[in-house]
Amino acid sequence: MSDKMSFQADVSKMLDIVVNSLYSEKQIFLRELISNASDACDKLKYLALTHPDIAKASGEMKILITPDEKNKTLKIADNGIGMNREDLVNHLGTIAKSGTADFVRNVKDNGSAVDLIGQFGVGFYSAFMVADKVEILTRKAGEDKAWFWVSDGAEGFEIREAEKETNGTEIKLFLKKDEKQYTDSIYLRQIIRTYSDHINYPIVLCLGNAGEEVVNSASALWARNKAEITSEQYKEFYHHISKNFDEPWLTLHFKAEGSIEYTGLLYIPGTAPYDLFQPDRRQSLKLYVNRVFISDKVEELLPSYLRFVKGVVDSSDLPLNISREMLQQSPLIAKIRQGMVSRILKELKKRAKDYDDYLKFWNAFGIAFKEGIYEDFSNREEIAGLSLFASTQDTEKLTSLDDYIKRVRPEQKVIYYITGDDVRTLQNNPQLEAFKEKGLEVLLLTDPIDEFWTQVLTSYKTFAVKHISQADIDLSFERREKKADEGSLKKLTDLMTEMFHKEVGKVVTTEKLTRSPASLTVENGQMSIHLERLMRNHQQQTAFASTRILEINPYHPLIIKLAEATGDEQLKPKVEEVARLILDQAKIAEGETISDPSFYSEAISNYILKGF
Ligand code: ADP
Ligand code: MG
Repeated sequence: MSDKMSFQADVSKMLDIVVNSLYSEKQIFLRELISNASDACDKLKYLALTHPDIAKASGEMKILITPDEKNKTLKIADNGIGMNREDLVNHLGTIAKSGTADFVRNVKDNGSAVDLIGQFGVGFYSAFMVADKVEILTRKAGEDKAWFWVSDGAEGFEIREAEKETNGTEIKLFLKKDEKQYTDSIYLRQIIRTYSDHINYPIVLCLGNAGEEVVNSASALWARNKAEITSEQYKEFYHHISKNFDEPWLTLHFKAEGSIEYTGLLYIPGTAPYDLFQPDRRQSLKLYVNRVFISDKVEELLPSYLRFVKGVVDSSDLPLNISREMLQQSPLIAKIRQGMVSRILKELKKRAKDYDDYLKFWNAFGIAFKEGIYEDFSNREEIAGLSLFASTQDTEKLTSLDDYIKRVRPEQKVIYYITGDDVRTLQNNPQLEAFKEKGLEVLLLTDPIDEFWTQVLTSYKTFAVKHISQADIDLSFERREKKADEGSLKKLTDLMTEMFHKEVGKVVTTEKLTRSPASLTVENGQMSIHLERLMRNHQQQTAFASTRILEINPYHPLIIKLAEATGDEQLKPKVEEVARLILDQAKIAEGETISDPSFYSEAISNYILKGF
């Protein structure tokens, strides 16, 4: 009895993309099938830790590749974990959470499939690039029943009970008419060496009369001597474990010795994953104990601000037979994490010397990395030192804190920053005018995370780190312009304080402005306007708004005129109208919303018309 089933809609879409694309590197299907076979062997090996009898029945783990030139078929067989009926339906008929799902999502978002096949592992379905029919015979370890699955990669698949002596999976490809090169042993050998040399298990090419031959090195790449590994091999391994297909930006292979011994082979990808900021994204290092794969879900292996790091950690000092949950609590894991973090930071420090090179890393992962300033107390200053920021010094180039320090004025003891939504608006913020006038550099911080780390990084080396609104230096400077007289200024600030008491705490004069008539700031020590806005957008803490202060510029012709007119009963309506416009403009410069947009636009139109 056989069941006919349809592929889930996403699978059909996927198959359609894969089968019909003109992708030239079709040979990657073999890498995908071998990778699955290797995963299946890993899973059985892990099961064997708790069920030794099951593994014993299976014998030495290996992957067999059998070409049949006459019948134009290619068989990939493993003696790994195998699949039962449920597994076949769930894993090879739907798309669960895997590289394949990412692929489909990205094709939907970005359109071009051909490029993306190269960037993602397309998994099992890539078999249909070269085959017009695929048969699977499989038996799950520890179960009696075996299953047969067959599909032409179009609508769906058929499934029925079958006979199989041993556990594991055999995948038989019926090659398309013009794909018979995949029965050629020389070509197969070459593909396997190129893409799958690093696989932990022997990959055996079975050539009938010509015998059997192990094609790959079949030893864990990370356990080999660095000097014997080529950069190609490192890269292929990265592709295998990360399911990324770009050039890694960093490859870090090391052996830690001391109170706990472990080997790490870590990579920083060349491009950011699409889900770097999705809340459910976790780090995904693979943990091995003595070359036995344990888990890729031990999140404690790296802090979350390094969640983009891919790779393998292998330690023989970890106990093999404890549960994954217990492993997470293990102090040994905490030690490994500490060691790896400092290695990664050290490596970043080296690479940061080359600005253009480092910028590639920074553009891809900088925002996530900066979370470390906030999260990782013990490495705070080091992480801050490895971070780059936009600055008023040179708006084309990002700066590090150390470079900022090199440029400070002799008496300057503070690193100044301002926060906001984007660099361009920030550059024109009236609050910066005095700093520009005095030649003080200001960092322009525009990522939401900047609001958080600046709360905890209050100093860097011997410098305080301060928002410009908290600058306690004298920001007045030589002026040649005329100033409004004190008496009428006082009348004006009193009037405006009274008028706007619902919107601002007070209205004061300032020496810090040059071009702008007014500017909005907050009481010293209070949450910045930008942070408050972020919180509001996330519907948090709306009740605790900071007290706004409206600062007016007594040198500005508009303020001088307004001050002179204050107190004149006849001009009162005009004075109030202009005062309101000044507050609105200050709000706009801060990126705040104004209370009555239609009043504002009507009044502005009138003034434009008069001036025109
Ligand atoms: P991925 O490997 O990213 O999960 P694939 O499309 O390559 O995606 O494979 C889908 C799933 O099918 C695997 O996760 C696994 O559960 C199952 N699978 C594929 N090949 C095998 C195999 N040889 N042995 C056991 N399970 C397999
Ligand atoms: Mg796979």
